[in-house]
Amino acid sequence: MTDVLLRGGLPWGLGAPADVLVRDGRIHLVAQGVEAPGARIVDIAGQLVLPGLVEAHCHLDKTLYGGPWVPHSADDTLAGRIGNDLGRRAELGVPSAERIAALLALMSAAGTTHVRTHTDIDPLVGLRGVEAVLEAAASSPVDVRQVAFPQHGVLINPGTAELLEDALKSGVEAVGGLDPAGIDRDPVRHLDLVFGLAERYGAHLDLHLHDGGSLGGWELELITERTRVLGLGGRVTVSHAYALGQLDESYQDRLAQGFAEAGVAIATAAVYSFPVPPIKKLRAAGVTVACGHDGIRDLWGPYGSGDMLERAMHVAYRSTFRRDEDIELALEAATYGGARALGLESYGLSPGDRADLVVVPCGGAAEAVVVHPARTLVMKDGVVLHN
Ligand SMILES: [Zn+2]
Repeated sequence: MTDVLLRGGLPWGLGAPADVLVRDGRIHLVAQGVEAPGARIVDIAGQLVLPGLVEAHCHLDKTLYGGPWVPHSADDTLAGRIGNDLGRRAELGVPSAERIAALLALMSAAGTTHVRTHTDIDPLVGLRGVEAVLEAAASSPVDVRQVAFPQHGVLINPGTAELLEDALKSGVEAVGGLDPAGIDRDPVRHLDLVFGLAERYGAHLDLHLHDGGSLGGWELELITERTRVLGLGGRVTVSHAYALGQLDESYQDRLAQGFAEAGVAIATAAVYSFPVPPIKKLRAAGVTVACGHDGIRDLWGPYGSGDMLERAMHVAYRSTFRRDEDIELALEAATYGGARALGLESYGLSPGDRADLVVVPCGGAAEAVVVHPARTLVMKDGVVLHN
């Protein structure tokens, strides 16, 4: 494998231009004036070098991307969206490995190197979504990790718990959950079940929590308590956590402290119709914050481009961030935060880290988020995918 020397870029966080020498799939050296005879040299003078972007919450199995535009006609209620999804999946050929592959190619060209995707598991679709994602991921450079996701409830949907376990047995990396109170009507049993699966299979747990207000707050306490008692810190993520954006400041502070101590991460998609978690407060408390698109061009909604810099812009915009240092928090969620939530090893811009890199023609992180221009270069495991 030929060495690659990225000449004159601005590695994020370094504060000065430096060359990045890539050897055998890893970052070998970050320094000024590197000499590397025989290396392929790419001049990126003055351009920002970021670690590979991490999409920490999406639904690849649901996507319609790559086919013709499908007009979105669902009424805007949860029941309407679920009905639209279930009613039209078969007709539109969802899940489709071909469409998932097309979306992964789009994401990769935009610099995404790692994806966590929530794959529907229910008695109707069985494990077909898991298989379609595996098939598409096999021919993609993107590192794809699945969450076995009970989109239609666990306790209220007999057969789903067994299928979640089958998915974990087949090698799916994480188990999901969905509104233990609002959907499944029994938060204690729901959480016992999904935490039990995570513990038994050494899996991550990433739970969708849309339940709002004090109900959602209480469920966040239950999740934090279980994470601490079971010693699952670093392996538990709560996705959406809309309640966090609705609670008063002192309750937010208490929950944030608990997440930091127990090792619970928060993933936000900055969904346009719900409050965004208080990212600044969470980061100040030491909580891992990740982000993602949620659905991309599917029966739940028409939006999503697959570009994590654009998604970081949505996160910053919805958080009403204006200062560069605040906007940078959104980029942190799309990179290091996502990497911590997913448990990625050797992630970053230091010698020894995997050479998963993206170069953007910008002078700094806030500009990269706001402008999100076309990527100059994308590299995965030391291989230049796009230049
Ligand atoms: Zn989701």
